[in-house]
Amino acid sequence: MSLKDFHIQKRTLVTGGAGFIGSHLCRRLLAEGHDVICVDNFYTGNKKNIVDLLDNPYFELIRHDITFPFYIEVDEIYNLACPASPIHYQYDPVQTTKTSVHGAINMLGLSKRLKIKIFQASTSEVYGDPKVHPQTEDYWGNVNPIGVRSCYDEGKRCAETLFFDYRRQHNLPIKVGRIFNTYGPNMHPHDGRVVSNFIVQALQNQPITIYGAGNQTRSFCYIDDLIEAFVRFMRTDDAVTGPLNLGNPYEFSILELAQQVISLTDSSSKLIFEPLPSDDPTQRKPNISLAQQVLDWEPKIQLKEGLIKTIDYFRKTLK
Ligand code: NAD
Ligand code: UDP
Repeated sequence: MSLKDFHIQKRTLVTGGAGFIGSHLCRRLLAEGHDVICVDNFYTGNKKNIVDLLDNPYFELIRHDITFPFYIEVDEIYNLACPASPIHYQYDPVQTTKTSVHGAINMLGLSKRLKIKIFQASTSEVYGDPKVHPQTEDYWGNVNPIGVRSCYDEGKRCAETLFFDYRRQHNLPIKVGRIFNTYGPNMHPHDGRVVSNFIVQALQNQPITIYGAGNQTRSFCYIDDLIEAFVRFMRTDDAVTGPLNLGNPYEFSILELAQQVISLTDSSSKLIFEPLPSDDPTQRKPNISLAQQVLDWEPKIQLKEGLIKTIDYFRKTLK
């Protein structure tokens, strides 16, 4: 008998695996036959998101904070750990920066020792309040370095710097994805992000909280489309490093989103207008030409269909 007679599975580390995006990624990787190791400190993640995976012998859950070194033998890494909702990342901003920066250093160190591919969940926030619209990857952004969003924006920008320096200095196979607003099942109902807030408010016939006049725009990507892009990106040749914009290019105002949610939930909720948080970007829309070309990918699930699936999830969880 030789080693070839054994079916060796790819051991894949997912940091932030108990969070919204991470829990979907873990499921997809298990379905593709990976041996998945999920690392999470449950800062914003929830065991409920992965509780059904705990009996799977190919799924391991490790409680660990990635700002501390972590030693393990794996074949590839997806680094997703970081709070993503503005309310959560502003709650302990120093920890947010540490998670992005120390976390990246620890995960890049692991990747360097093992000489393995590493994916970084970066963000459209690296463009700040963009002056170029739609945003292309070569735009350097318009970011306030000292504002309330800076812990997240600058933390993620520094993480990108580290990824590209590890690439230049140590020739690491890196994959940097800039994720634009993504939504779907497993978002925490009180996460504070706009899609989950509006759906929860609408289902409870509570007022829909519009920050500012609601003219600011976002482009919303359904989770399944994003996960497809992650997996395709990871399969690309080592020369493909990104950064790649990953998102859905259809742009909506926050008011339009509220109206769609009210209509799809048949809610009696009224709109209420609250102050716009500082540094809230006025517009956001990805140019995804590069991802379309390199990954042969584009989002398939448009807002209405994705909202219906997400509303269905929240209807069940809020019972
Ligand atoms: P989330 O808050 O649901 O998940 C983040 C996960 O990371 C949680 O499970 C949390 O407990 C864990 N975590 C946080 N700090 C940690 C630490 N120090 N050590 C270990 N685990 C830690 O958020 P999400 O929407 O799933 O986002 C996942 C990643 O994608 C984040 O890096 C985020 O910045 C990025 N991203 C998300 C979006 C989006 O629209 N959802 C957009 C841009 C970027
Ligand atoms: N927003 C809103 N009401 C809410 C939550 C968010 O009007 O209850 C707005 C917020 O000000 C921003 C947009 O919706 O302009 C998207 O906010 P989110 O927190 O989802 O993500 P962001 O893209 O700002 O990181």
